[in-house]
Amino acid sequence: MSISRRNSVQVRIGEVPVGGGAPIVVQSMTNTDTADIAATVAQVQALARAGSELVRITVNTDAAAAAVAPIRERLERAGVTVPLIGDFHFNGHKLLAEHPACAAALGKYRINPGNVGRGSKRDPQFAQMIETACRHGKPVRIGVNWGSLDPDLLTRLMDENSRRAEPLDARQVTRQAVVRSALDSAQRAEELGLPHDHIILSAKVSGVQDLIAIYHDLAARCDYPLHLGLTEAGMGSKGIVASTAGMAVLLQQGIGDTIRVSLTPEPDGDRTQEVIVAQEILQTMGLRAFAPLVIACPGCGRTTSTYFQELAAAIQAHIRARMPQWRREYAGVEDMTVAVMGCVVNGPGESKHANLGISLPGTGERPVAPVYEDGAKTVTLKGERIAEEFQDIVERYVARRYARARTP
Ligand code: SF4
Repeated sequence: MSISRRNSVQVRIGEVPVGGGAPIVVQSMTNTDTADIAATVAQVQALARAGSELVRITVNTDAAAAAVAPIRERLERAGVTVPLIGDFHFNGHKLLAEHPACAAALGKYRINPGNVGRGSKRDPQFAQMIETACRHGKPVRIGVNWGSLDPDLLTRLMDENSRRAEPLDARQVTRQAVVRSALDSAQRAEELGLPHDHIILSAKVSGVQDLIAIYHDLAARCDYPLHLGLTEAGMGSKGIVASTAGMAVLLQQGIGDTIRVSLTPEPDGDRTQEVIVAQEILQTMGLRAFAPLVIACPGCGRTTSTYFQELAAAIQAHIRARMPQWRREYAGVEDMTVAVMGCVVNGPGESKHANLGISLPGTGERPVAPVYEDGAKTVTLKGERIAEEFQDIVERYVARRYARARTP
C-alpha cells in the first residue's frame, strides 16, 4: 500500500527516487567526526547495512570537506552505493567552493536557510551554494529548523502580526515563519536556476503538534517532496514515541516522502537503531516492508515462564541475521509474518493469520506447541528442542514459499 502524496514531484538523489509516489525513503545521519575517514566509512556502512537508503554527514570544516571524496571512494570500493548528503551551516558556501571534489561526491546538499549567514551576507552565501548545486547537478534539501529560524524573517512577521486587528499568538507566528522560510528559500533557489525537481523541503521542530501543523501547511502550499522528522526527539522510548506520534499522523495523510527518526543514542549506543525504528514505523503502518514481522503476545498470568519471550526474541534475531542473504535470494520474504504466542487462548487464531505461527504451552496446558503454516496446523512440537525445530521450520518455509519468486 502506498499513500504517499501523489502531487509531489520526484527528486532523484543518485539512484534513489524521493517523492512522486516512490516508496517512502528511510534516511539517517552519522555522528562521527567526518574528518575521521575510517570511523565515518564504518558508520555509513553500518547504517546502509541496516537499511538506510540515504545517509547524511556533517560537513563543517575544511578537514571534513576534504574527507568527503575519500569517504565516497572507500564506500564504493566496499560496494556501498548509498548516497551521501552533506549537512552545511554558516561556512557551506566556502567549503563547497574550495572543495569541488566534495561538492561532486555528495548526492545532495542540505542547506539550513537560517544558518547560511547573517544580515547582508545571507543572500549571496545562499546564492553561492545554490549555484554550486546547479553546476554539479545536485539536488538540495532546504532544511528549516525551528531552533535556528532566520531572525530577520521572524522579526518581520512578528511586527506584521502586531499590527493586525486580531494578532495571532507567538507560536502560530513562529509556525508561519518556518513555512515561509522554507517556501521563500525554495523560490529563491529556483530563481537562481535550481530546477523545481531538485528541491526537497523539511521543517524540523521538536513539538509533535507544531510538526503536524507546519507540514499540513507545507503540503497544502507546495508540491516539493517533504522530508519528515522531529528534531531533538530525545532518548529511548521518549524519542521513539514522539517521532512515531508526529510522523504517523502525517504519513497516514499521505504527507512525507522521506523520513528520519532522530534518536539521541545512549553512550556507545548503536546508531543503527534510528534506521530500524524508521523502518518499523513504515512497516507497522503498512506503507513498506523491510523484514518479516514477528508478532508476539505480551504474555500474562497464563504463561508459566519467559520461554516464549525468549523464543520470540530468538526468532526476531534469527530473521534479522538471515535477512541480508534472504533479501538477495527470496523476493517478497520481507512480507512474511511469524506469530509467537504464549498459550492456546489466542495462539492458534493469531497463528492462522500469520504465514507461520507457534503457540507455546501456557499454565496447565499440555507441554506441546502447535505450529501453523499458511493457516493450517502442520506439526506439534514437544520436548527440549522446540526453539531449534521451529527455527528449522522457518528456514524451510522461506526456501519453499519464496523460492518461486526468486530473483535472477
Ligand atoms: S496468548 Fe495466552 S499467554 Fe499470550 S497474552 Fe494471550 S492469554 Fe496470555
